[in-house]
Amino acid sequence: MIHPDTELTYINPVIGYGLVATRKILKGTITWVRDSLDMVFEPDAYEKIHGQRKEYLYKYCFVDGQGRRILCWDHGRFVNHCCAANCIAPGYDCEIAVCDIQPGEQITCDYGLLNMDEDFPCSCGATNCREVVRPSDPEIHHQKWDAQIREVFTQVDKLPQPLWEFVSEKAEIKQAINNPALIPSSLKHYYQHPR
Ligand SMILES: [Zn+2]
Repeated sequence: MIHPDTELTYINPVIGYGLVATRKILKGTITWVRDSLDMVFEPDAYEKIHGQRKEYLYKYCFVDGQGRRILCWDHGRFVNHCCAANCIAPGYDCEIAVCDIQPGEQITCDYGLLNMDEDFPCSCGATNCREVVRPSDPEIHHQKWDAQIREVFTQVDKLPQPLWEFVSEKAEIKQAINNPALIPSSLKHYYQHPR
């Protein structure tokens, strides 16, 4: 489930649709959480789907750490990539804002964390744009992402968290707020597709 202070917006002809904040979202806010309404496709079930429906799933699903395709049931599926993403997934089933997001600003994540099937060329416009986003990016960038999460993690229990009721790992997250060494690396959900 995506944070309620977001809306689906047409960005431009190149990007298509994206999500923008309708109010300021402070760093440390949980912006997305995996929840029980998300649709789960095991690899063999996904392979049995063909045609337009498969193209849609390929485009809008992410792949979890067990190789399953997950289709967010709400407009969370429209979050775009940015190499300077304002939301990052720690090794929990959620995304956390790693900087303050202003009203009208796009909500972005790093597709390097979504276990994509193949490389994609990126022209996100960030000064540190990687130009090609690769499935193996977590091997190179996980320390940077983990550091971004650590920096804001103590804010998690100090802010309004409208998605908190849907968080499945409440106890683990509370423990880690007091002891950041317990925050699981983003590598926890890294999945390498069989070749
Ligand atoms: Zn980029």
